[in-house]
Amino acid sequence: MSKELSLQETGSLLMAAQKIVLCTHVSPDGDTLGSSLGLAKFLLQRGKEVIVFCDDLLNKSFSFIPGLELVQRPEAGTVVEADLLVVMDASSFDRIGIVGEVVKYQQLLNIDHHISNTRFADYLYLNAKAAATGEIMCELFQAMEWPITKEMAECFYIAISTDCGSFRYGNTTPKTMRAGAWLLEQGVQPNEISDKLEMKSRLTMEMLAKVLPSLTFEAEGKIAYLTITNDIYNKEANTDSFVNYPRYIEGVEIAIMFKAVEKKVTRVSMRSSNVDVAQVALSFGGGGHIRAAGCTIYAPVEEAREQLLAELRKLV
Ligand code: AMP
Ligand code: MN
Ligand code: MN
Repeated sequence: MSKELSLQETGSLLMAAQKIVLCTHVSPDGDTLGSSLGLAKFLLQRGKEVIVFCDDLLNKSFSFIPGLELVQRPEAGTVVEADLLVVMDASSFDRIGIVGEVVKYQQLLNIDHHISNTRFADYLYLNAKAAATGEIMCELFQAMEWPITKEMAECFYIAISTDCGSFRYGNTTPKTMRAGAWLLEQGVQPNEISDKLEMKSRLTMEMLAKVLPSLTFEAEGKIAYLTITNDIYNKEANTDSFVNYPRYIEGVEIAIMFKAVEKKVTRVSMRSSNVDVAQVALSFGGGGHIRAAGCTIYAPVEEAREQLLAELRKLV
């Protein structure tokens, strides 16, 4: 069980540490990367020793995030000592891959906004009402009166826009909008960020063309899903937005994307208009939010699909 901290206590814990490792979750997205990099830039300015770890490949589509060159992949068998390990935007310890083994830390802090948070860290700052960990970063900087640069602001704007669909999803609150406004006041150009977030490689588009024919409906059209089979899967493509295609179809309540990342490893993304998909994801060892959740099922894609659909059919 974690000790839950206030923003002030979170800020003080960060300031008290000298050697800090920040880490993202695996299958990194704009929120985990933007939040980690914006905070890393600030801590570096404060003279801290900072390492940013991500135990996964970084998709080329993220190369525009300021400070991305700071991100390192931990090597198995190595040891990195730290006063503080900070897990950003991850709700369980297994979401950070081997970072948990490589880093020998004195204290473990988790900053997160997932309702499915497992309270694994020594210290936790959790705000499940925040649209993104990037929104929590804005509140932290404001509470601590930490100076923010344009680059840090860009990082947090990327983080927030990623998780709230550029301020369109149901998790967007007045606080999310105020955080966005504050970041614009620091010089962020929203069109520049949104153009870069929307930009897709040709490879990604070609893959989408191969994946769309797999669109299948179930439960009288209340469930729709896409499947990326092993032969189509290419880790260079950014498939994060693909689940939006089944999501915005009339009558669809739950949209799913199944991605065969290995022969017996299937990554699942779920989106829903109402049904609590976080609960379903949790029951498969994953997590997320009520309307956006995911899990990894250790089975071939067809089998994983049957297992998950059996649960989802009960809900619609
Ligand atoms: P995604 O479908 O990958 O965009 O993820 C949707 C939400 O579910 C995000 O908040 C993720 O952090 C969360 N999520 C996805 N996969 C997992 C997993 N295997 N374990 C825990 N949370 C996950
Ligand atoms: Mn995330
Ligand atoms: Mn997030």
